[in-house]
Order: sequence, then C-alpha cells, then structure tokens
Amino acid sequence: MKHQLTIYNTLKRKKELFIPINSPHVGMYVCGPTVYGDPHLGHARPAITFDVLFRYLRFLGYKVRYVRNITDVGHLEHDADEGEDKIEKKARLEQLEPMEIVQYYTLRYHTAMDALNVLPPSIEPRASGHIIEQENFVKKILDNGFAYISNGSVYFDIEAYSKKHNYGELSGRNVEDLLSTTRELDGQAEKHHSCDFALWKKASPEHIMHWPSPWSEGFPGWHLECSTMGTKYLGEEFDIHGGGMDLLFPHHECEIAQSVAALGHETVHYWMHNNMITINGTKMGKSLGNFITLEEFFKGSHKMLTQAYAPMTIRFFILQAHYRSTVDFSNEALQASEKGLARLMEAVANLNRIVSGDKTTVDIKDLRTKCTEAMDDDLNTPIVISYLFDATRGINNILAGTASITKEDLDELKSVFHTFMFDIMGLKEEATTTGNDEKTFDKVVDLLLELRKDAKTNKDWTTADKIRNEMTEMGFELKDTKDGTDWKLNK
Ligand code: ZN
Repeated sequence: MKHQLTIYNTLKRKKELFIPINSPHVGMYVCGPTVYGDPHLGHARPAITFDVLFRYLRFLGYKVRYVRNITDVGHLEHDADEGEDKIEKKARLEQLEPMEIVQYYTLRYHTAMDALNVLPPSIEPRASGHIIEQENFVKKILDNGFAYISNGSVYFDIEAYSKKHNYGELSGRNVEDLLSTTRELDGQAEKHHSCDFALWKKASPEHIMHWPSPWSEGFPGWHLECSTMGTKYLGEEFDIHGGGMDLLFPHHECEIAQSVAALGHETVHYWMHNNMITINGTKMGKSLGNFITLEEFFKGSHKMLTQAYAPMTIRFFILQAHYRSTVDFSNEALQASEKGLARLMEAVANLNRIVSGDKTTVDIKDLRTKCTEAMDDDLNTPIVISYLFDATRGINNILAGTASITKEDLDELKSVFHTFMFDIMGLKEEATTTGNDEKTFDKVVDLLLELRKDAKTNKDWTTADKIRNEMTEMGFELKDTKDGTDWKLNK
C-alpha cells in the first residue's frame, strides 16, 4: 500500500508531506515531564499523541529513534528562568534530596505511562546528566555573539539575534513588541531586555543543584537542555520535534533561537504540537481545585470524579479527538468513551465467534485503505475510530444472522481491527482492574475468608482446607493472625 503521511508543521502553519532526512531512519524528540509532582491528565495527552506517532512511523517501516527527556534541573517557577527551581522547592518542602524527588516522580511517571500503554522512548536523557554538553552549547552561542555574561549568568541576546534571524516565528510573536516590553522582576537588572532568557544561571547560596562553569558555579537554563540533548542524540538536523502547545512559547521559540545561534541553521524539520485538555471548560490547576492526577483517575479517588476510569478509557478518550483540537474532560465524556471502547472491544471478541459464509454482504470494502488514509492525514485517529464503529455495526448484523461474510473477508476484518486498535492506536484489553473492580475483588476475597472462618468455627475442616488450598494455588498468600486472616496476591 502506498503511504503519503502528512503532518501539520506548526512552524510552517500547514500540513506537509513527511519526508525523512535519512530514510528509513527517523529522529524524533519530544519534551518530557519536569519531575516534581504526580503525573496528571495533562501529561497523558502529549505522551499518547507522540506514542501514536511513534507506533505509526514504525508501522510504516521506519526505524525510529525516539528521544523524550526528563527535566530534573533548571526549570524555574516563573517564566522558566526566574524564581525557585521547581524540583528544589519540592525537595525543600519534603526535606528530601532533589534527586530523591526526581527518582520518585520519574518512577511514578513511568508507572502511569505503562498503565496507559505508552511505549518507552528509545532514549530518555536527563538534563542533569548533560551539564558539560550544555556548557559547550552556551560557549558556541557566546562565540557567535548571541549571548552576554552578566554577573556570573549568561543570557541569550534577543536583540542581537533578531538582527540576523527571525525570533518569534514559531509562536507568531513580534520581536519589536517583545524588545519594547519592560517588566520589573527580581534579577531583571542583569538582563538587557526582559525577553532575554537564561542560558546559564549563577546559583544563589541556598541553591542546592549547581555545577562549575567558566562563568560561575551555577546551573543551565531550562530551554537549553532540549537544544543540547536533541542535537546530541539525533544530529544537528533531525526530523520531528514535538510537545504540548503550552511549550510553543517561550520554550520551543527559545530552543529554535539557541540552535540557530549555536549551529547557524534550524535543526528541526517538522514541529508538532498537541492541544490542551481542559476540565469542565477551564484549565487544570492546583489552585482551581480541578487538578486530577492519573492515579486519581485510575482509582476514582478525586472528588470531581463520579467513578474510577481505566487507563484505556483515558487513552481512548484522548484518541477520540484530533491531537490539534482541545479536549474537554467531564465525567459524561469519559463515561461515553468507556462505553465506546467497550463496544469496539466487544466487536473484536465477536469477530472470533463469527462463522464465515460463502458471500460478503457487509460493507467492509476499503476499510484498511480508509483507516490508513485517515492516519496519513496528520494522524486523524477520531476518523479511524468512526470507521471502526461503522464496521462494528456490520459485525453485529453478521452475528444477528442478517448479513454474512466470507472467510477471506473475515480474516481481513480481524487483521484491520488488530492493526489499527492495538498496534497503531495502542489500545489493549485491560489486564488490570479498575478501582471499582478492585473494591469488588477485595470484597469477594474477604467473603471467601469469612466462609473459611465459619467453616473452622463449625469444625468443617474439609471446607476450610479446600478454600485455603485452592486460594494458595491461585497465588494468594494467607496468614492467620489473632484478628483474622491477612492476605496478599502474588502475581
Ligand atoms: Zn523541551
């Protein structure tokens, strides 16, 4: 089948045919999380969007090197380069080492991504592991005259840069406006213009994470890590750079400027951005009381949630919208996704129950081609899903005996469902239970243990032993204590 993958290039503001620099190899960089808190719904969207791209590129036969970083230093609270380091602040509040915070939340992030069936990237570099490379990047920018040293810190010089290059082209900002804006912030006097951003910051005495450099004992600016690690692992020019739309400015705008300033040319061929998730129409935020972590979704433990939602429901909910559209979360919307996904999963199960006939009377012609064309059209997963729903109606008709399908067409239908649902969109049969099911499961186990206790009280040793032995066989570990029986399930 001929493929014509087009992707929307945010920088060019149009869809373009995807032509890799060095086919069959594709280099792809996505900005990962700053690991100072539990992963939430906002983390799920970019992870799932670029996971689908990763899966689809591999499906098309490309060898993809997918780099997704972990930000563990340098992401400051205000405007990325003012205020306290987000990780250090959390470490101070919890009286832990910053690297303990990083380790803890990186593992939490990985666990949540596993649950969402997001494939791990090929390389997951950390900013703190690339300090020397970042310093070398700063040196190049200084040598080329696009940065200045001020009181031990190094700032990017937007005015100098914009004389030769186009700062603001990604986010559509006007550099004249940016340069004329003056804002008073702490430490602002160090900068020539308020829009200049830190490449290297001199550490204040209370700052814990710092490294030696030619300019000061300090730490790199947040934007620098992605320019440095992207080019280190993917080369001075690579295919795709992705991230959430919230990173367009200043993060990605600054990345472009840094790379052009250091290397003399653009590094990224296709810039891709996923849109945001809102909750009942508003942004998600700690102060708004609508900040919901992924674990809270999986367990149904946030006050705004009327039930637990399985990870695959969250994934399907996200895939039901095009990645460049906004998605508004509500219980109703997620419940609709839960039902929709159950219908598709049922269709997959039903395909195995169908007995083929000698002719095909359902319209499944070109299903594979139509799904492929939708994916080729800038990863249009909602359209793929709508085609699969259409096919589900046909499957139900065959089951009901009002339509029929040949063996050959049945095999093709099974293959299309498998390819698009599981391989490309990354859905799976939910192996684990939802929080609601877990509660029911616990109750059933408790009931069995109570029956065993009753049997023992009645000196019915045969029943008591039967329950114990069969539960042990299933992997339960039972421990009788004076208050009852403790249990755990070894998987
Ligand atoms: Zn980044």
